[in-house]
Amino acid sequence: MSGRPLTVALTGNPNAGKSSLFNAMTGANQRVGNFPGVTIEKLEGDAEYQGRRITVVDLPGTYSLTPFSPEEIVTRRFIIDEKPDVVVNVVEGCNLERNLLLTVQLMEMEVSLLVALNMIDEVEEQGISIDQKQLQKLLGSHIVPTSARQRRGIDSLLDHILRVADGRIEISRNKVSFSPEIEAAVTKIAGMLARERGLGGANHRWLAIKLLENDPEAYQLVQQHPVWVKVELALQEAIVECERMHRTDPESLITEDRHAFIRGAMQECVRVPHAEKASITDYIDMVVLNRVLGIPIFLAVVWAIFQLTFTLGQPLASALEYLFALAGATLEPHLSDPLLRSVLIDGVVAGVGGVVVFLPNIVLLFIGLSFLEASGYMARAAFVIDKVMHRFGLHGKSFIPMVTGFGCSIPAIMATRTLKSRSDRLATIMAIPFMSCGAKLPVYVLLAGAFFPPAAAANVMFAIYLLGIAVGLWTAWMLKKSVLKSDSEPFVMELPPYRWPTMASVIFQAKMKALLYLKKAGTLILGAVILVWAASNFPKSADIDARLAVETARIEATASSAESKQSALLKAEASAQSAQLEYSAAGRVGKIIEPLIRPLGFDWRIGIALVTGLAAKEVVVSTLGTIVSIGHAGQATDLTSIVRSDPGFSPATALSLMVFVLLYIPCVASLGVMKKEVGSWRPVIVFTAYVLVIAWSASFVTYRLALAFA
Ligand code: GDP
Ligand code: MG
Repeated sequence: MSGRPLTVALTGNPNAGKSSLFNAMTGANQRVGNFPGVTIEKLEGDAEYQGRRITVVDLPGTYSLTPFSPEEIVTRRFIIDEKPDVVVNVVEGCNLERNLLLTVQLMEMEVSLLVALNMIDEVEEQGISIDQKQLQKLLGSHIVPTSARQRRGIDSLLDHILRVADGRIEISRNKVSFSPEIEAAVTKIAGMLARERGLGGANHRWLAIKLLENDPEAYQLVQQHPVWVKVELALQEAIVECERMHRTDPESLITEDRHAFIRGAMQECVRVPHAEKASITDYIDMVVLNRVLGIPIFLAVVWAIFQLTFTLGQPLASALEYLFALAGATLEPHLSDPLLRSVLIDGVVAGVGGVVVFLPNIVLLFIGLSFLEASGYMARAAFVIDKVMHRFGLHGKSFIPMVTGFGCSIPAIMATRTLKSRSDRLATIMAIPFMSCGAKLPVYVLLAGAFFPPAAAANVMFAIYLLGIAVGLWTAWMLKKSVLKSDSEPFVMELPPYRWPTMASVIFQAKMKALLYLKKAGTLILGAVILVWAASNFPKSADIDARLAVETARIEATASSAESKQSALLKAEASAQSAQLEYSAAGRVGKIIEPLIRPLGFDWRIGIALVTGLAAKEVVVSTLGTIVSIGHAGQATDLTSIVRSDPGFSPATALSLMVFVLLYIPCVASLGVMKKEVGSWRPVIVFTAYVLVIAWSASFVTYRLALAFA
């Protein structure tokens, strides 16, 4: 068998064993020359394997591919200009962490890469265990263990070279994913470069990374072309963005992300018997990544955030509630038209206000989450949870969209696009709606806050979130066990160094969340509130009005004191309002649903809230604000107190309702996105039926247990 002769380049850190390997491969067949323009020796030799001639070039040793030393320039130019068929990266098995920095940069160049895990004899001697299969997946290229000194693995290396060159080995081309700001800039700049004709065949993504790294050669290349004007602007933008979000420059951030990737790969694949020289990050990681402690620590951290959300947020929320109640009370006497008064007081103030008051809790929760993210801890949590996820047949990579799901399902479902395997994607998409999103938070805060003291309320909420995660993982596990069987794809949890998050990024996150929440309150929720108000006020029954008039006249005539008259009038008015609500369109719908949800402890008013909550989960709260306050005429207090004093609510109902809202049908917007990502309505409809069954059963059990223990 013979084919065209192949060119293979050997790259690696100094002393990785390139020359030894070169000698072992080529024997006496060697030529010495010079690389053009520099005084660096170029060693070339020929090997024969299975009748194929393989020309091997021993490139100079480098730690990196930044063009700061002649060795690095020579290596890089050779790979770009000569386009060898295969690039063999020789790495020193005992010093993987340091050696991999070059490897990830070669990965970025998207060359046909093969990794020679050299000095395997020393690796064995030192008792280092390397999970080659996993490392191979993470690096996206094959790994061949070799010992140049003992001449082990040479044939295997040659064999792999042929197979890579002929495309008989699949290379997954995994790569480091950089911080969002960097990824965005890379994509943008690579797009600009791709449209520039003069740049020829250069790898645009790689070139973009190099530009962000201030690489002088890349600058020189791109500056000659008209596209430079736009590129320069994009680079400036990236610098500003990195400074604002991370207080650093793109170059450092890229280096950091590479190290994070390597650290993650090392944690996952390499076990060294005696760890030497540990940094602070290593010490913290020893604890938080610990096999036994990892998950409890994660749970404790999240629990602490919930406690904070509640204990700090609740007084603020109460203050806002008071302000809204005050606004309602101030406004009321000035509104003579009863319909206008009703739509403003019962609708807008009670409904929208009922949602807006939970802004402090929302913002605090997200400050907590973004703090975990920016400090580098969230990546550790993902790393620890990755192991658990595998047991559920899910990929660690699924954890990231799931965390996003705590904010909102929509971006979370879209984030599953990073999962290459369709079955992983589907399983993750179906798990995401159970991750309790920010819109459900007001429901919990209202109900838990009304029936439990703050610390207990935070515990209740924590339990609700855990229940959501459990049901989500269970759903994914079931899907992967039955209809969605498949292998998982390679993925490195990147472990960035710990860092104190910048104020700018925390404030930015909080501001964005607050603005989005207020915007939603002012648009979607306001609209839903007005609809709910209309549906719960019309049609009006003339009968009830007539009876109220008769009753009022009777009280006026018979009341003994002014005080008892006042209270009797309010009572009559409240019961007339309740009767009108029952008579209204919303009331009738609620009455139809009531038999179905009675076993869960819900009356027809909660039924209405659950239906309207399909528009957005906050609407459950705003609807309760509108319709529950209807039966409480004259008591212009806040929603929390109204719910607490309403006979239709009890702690058991509150718990049951929280569980139901957690698990039942996601909002219409996320159903729409689900359909778009999944491709058809059928799975979405099946999913909807499934969640209804789950939600009903879980609420039923919760309600019965709560009643039994109350
Ligand atoms: P280069 O700088 O990458 O060209 O590395 P060399 O080939 O010059 O090797 C550096 C040192 O490592 C030499 O002392 C080699 O004998 C030694 N060496 C190379 N390969 C192996 C190996 O597989 N096992 C062991 N134990 N030593 C090796
Ligand atoms: Mg050498």
